[in-house]
Amino acid sequence: MSASPPALKAQSSAHGQIQSGLTDLYHRLLPNREGELADYIPELAKVPADQFGIAVATADGEVITAGDADAPFTIQSVSKALTLAMLLDLVGREATYQAVGVQPSGDPFNAITLDPRSNRPFNPMVNAGAIAVAGRLRETLGRTAFGQSLAKLSEAAGRELRVDENVFESERETGHRNRAIGHLLRAAEVFTVPVDEVLDVYFRQCSILVSATDLAVMGATLANIGRNPKTQREVFGLETVRETLSVMFTCGMYDGAGDWACRVGLPAKSGVGGGIMAVVNRQLGIGVFSPRLDAEGNSVRGKLCCVGLADELGLHAFEFTNPGSSFLRAIGGRG
Ligand code: GLU
Repeated sequence: MSASPPALKAQSSAHGQIQSGLTDLYHRLLPNREGELADYIPELAKVPADQFGIAVATADGEVITAGDADAPFTIQSVSKALTLAMLLDLVGREATYQAVGVQPSGDPFNAITLDPRSNRPFNPMVNAGAIAVAGRLRETLGRTAFGQSLAKLSEAAGRELRVDENVFESERETGHRNRAIGHLLRAAEVFTVPVDEVLDVYFRQCSILVSATDLAVMGATLANIGRNPKTQREVFGLETVRETLSVMFTCGMYDGAGDWACRVGLPAKSGVGGGIMAVVNRQLGIGVFSPRLDAEGNSVRGKLCCVGLADELGLHAFEFTNPGSSFLRAIGGRG
């Protein structure tokens, strides 16, 4: 048998190192039972609490996993980053930001409030902002809005996704705060289509079933500037990816966003289903699933796992080993 070329050897040893890092982290964090399940709907309180899956997808399409990486759970608020990207591609930056701002808000994610300066939601990662995005998608795409959102998220995951109908029904039955937000947005003319049609899109998008592997591939699609590294399909535009990652970095982790930015230093979005999707620009997507949540609503093990990976692999955006702009290096700048 001929020996592998050096580049391939280096690549497989990098994958081997990531694999052993993931396996170690999995065993180290598995005994951690801190946090509580989301219980605003009975379906989420019924989820087996001990599940724990980690997946990393590289921008060259390799997927490395540990634990329950293929266990299904509802995407919930992680969908907010992807529908924002979809709207940015569809209507552009200016029209998107006529509907929603990009300021971190000091309010809870489900606050029934708008930014008093603009009369628009603070950002697309809180419920008001995500419902504004759903409203603009409904307005732009009509009745096909949810079908197209599901197709877009499926393209980002590289496989066909589906909705958990029980979760969807519960979200719809109990979503009074979200309905109130919908009416506030309609009154402010953020959208002009009926509130119920918009909430149907929003509740369905929250109820899409994914796995940690799906979140990793979605993250890798963003890391790979919009092209799914598994299928090689263009899913999002270049500027859209930059915009989306910026909003994830500043607003993606509920009221824990600042702490996350310092400790992990990666753009990320979490959901109350226990999922976290994080992105290492141009290199990796990370997906973690563990349903027990901390006081901020982020997965306890998911957060610890991302802290561990960031430390171990030097992933923080401002890591001192990060060489900065390749453009400046190419023209002779310091690097
Ligand atoms: N369906 C949830 C809601 O709108 C999503 C919450 C979340 O994941 O942050 O309240």
